[in-house]
Amino acid sequence: MQNRIPESSATGVAEYDPSQILQTHLQCAFDCLEGLDGALFNFLRQPKRIVTVNFPVEMDDGSLRMFQGYRVIHNRLLGPGKGGIRFHPQLTRDEVCGLAALMTWKSALLDVPFGGAKGGVACDTKDLSKSELRRITRRFITELGDNIGPHTDIPAPDLYTDQQTMAWVYDTYDIMHPGRNNLPVVTGKPIDIGGSLGRHEATGRGCLYATERYLARAGLSGLKSLHGARIAVQGFGQVGSIVAWLFQEAGAVILAISDSQGAIFNEDGIDLKAATDFKQAHGTIVGLPETRSLTNDDLLSLDCDILIPAALSNQIRGENAENIRAKLIVEAANGPTTPNADQVLNRRGIPLLPDILANAGGVIVSYFEWVQNIENEKWDLEEVNGKLNGKIHHGVDMVFDRCRGLMNQSRSQENGQSDPSTSINMRTAALVVAIERLARVTQERGIWP
Ligand code: NAD
Repeated sequence: MQNRIPESSATGVAEYDPSQILQTHLQCAFDCLEGLDGALFNFLRQPKRIVTVNFPVEMDDGSLRMFQGYRVIHNRLLGPGKGGIRFHPQLTRDEVCGLAALMTWKSALLDVPFGGAKGGVACDTKDLSKSELRRITRRFITELGDNIGPHTDIPAPDLYTDQQTMAWVYDTYDIMHPGRNNLPVVTGKPIDIGGSLGRHEATGRGCLYATERYLARAGLSGLKSLHGARIAVQGFGQVGSIVAWLFQEAGAVILAISDSQGAIFNEDGIDLKAATDFKQAHGTIVGLPETRSLTNDDLLSLDCDILIPAALSNQIRGENAENIRAKLIVEAANGPTTPNADQVLNRRGIPLLPDILANAGGVIVSYFEWVQNIENEKWDLEEVNGKLNGKIHHGVDMVFDRCRGLMNQSRSQENGQSDPSTSINMRTAALVVAIERLARVTQERGIWP
């Protein structure tokens, strides 16, 4: 029952379609796998369930507005669905499907017992008051009903949602399901209502641990640690701001940061406290005294050691990847690099720590939060960070070794003639490890019935 796998061609896909992008990445990984049944692979890459909801919300001025929301379960073979809820005006069903699939591969890679899920509402949080956001969140969760649950599908924060949003998610679900421990229905909650110590920083901290491990294993033009490393971070939200703080604490110089309004640069390093205060006062970091303003595109092409995209998808693309001057890219955001850009970076020998590895700290500590909620326990910060460090180090080692193995295998198959670096990178290796694990589990469980 060998199914035909659609042809892989980064040039043949709509470059910015998130689901197509993931399919292209997966196809590269599948091409490296010997003996995996194509039909099984086809099964593993399809979303299991897609829910679309349309709902009205009364706005502060008394008017009624319609909103559309989605929740996608990509796969539940390893455990309950797990993935963030994002609020973004351009959110589409396809984007949510692509992001849900990424969660499947992330959990499979890091051996977290969750499946992949994602959700969100198409809305612009910048135009909404806090009470409107609360009503949108509550109504969205009510519409989802039992499509989410502590042992079926567990949301978390993502783009333009935060601990406050997760508190509303929990409260709404708890009101709908009284009389039981509902804390594990959502992670990324405030500490006071079952949130885990270290969860807020976990995605950024995971990026730090992954980068440190990579530098220790591979080095970077003489750079064996972050001390003195020159960093550019795109995005200054929950993930980007914490990445900037943690890398600075580790001895790096944060040359540039950005938000949706633009980027700022200081050769001697940005004063992050001043940037945070300025953003609070002015709604943007652009204009911070003693910094030079840049565009987000300028930031991406800065001469630096490490570039960390921590904002939106599709930021590093075929047309701007040629301008990248960083020596390493660490994907804190989900899907910031397109397949065409991957090819350019591979050809130029710029390594990349892929999203499913570099930003997995969020889902790892979400899992720790879920376990603590079920056990009614509270772990201390050292325990959380120590366990996170162990999982990320193991993940980087697995991907690094597998990447070397795949490159050697490809070289020997081509008798040393071809340049395997144009198709194999750490993203391919990470997906190979994840696909193998999920395929193994599927075969062990057996196809129902
Ligand atoms: P956030 O809403 O807190 O921050 C997003 C940041 O991106 C803001 O600083 C915003 O100004 C900036 N931004 C928006 N548009 C931009 C543009 N056009 N150019 C440059 N910057 C722009 O979101 P977040 O939670 O920090 O998520 C950022 C990324 O990290 C997303 O891709 C998300 O999927 C991913 N991620 C988040 C988590 C988490 O735990 N929050 C976990 C894993 C991955």
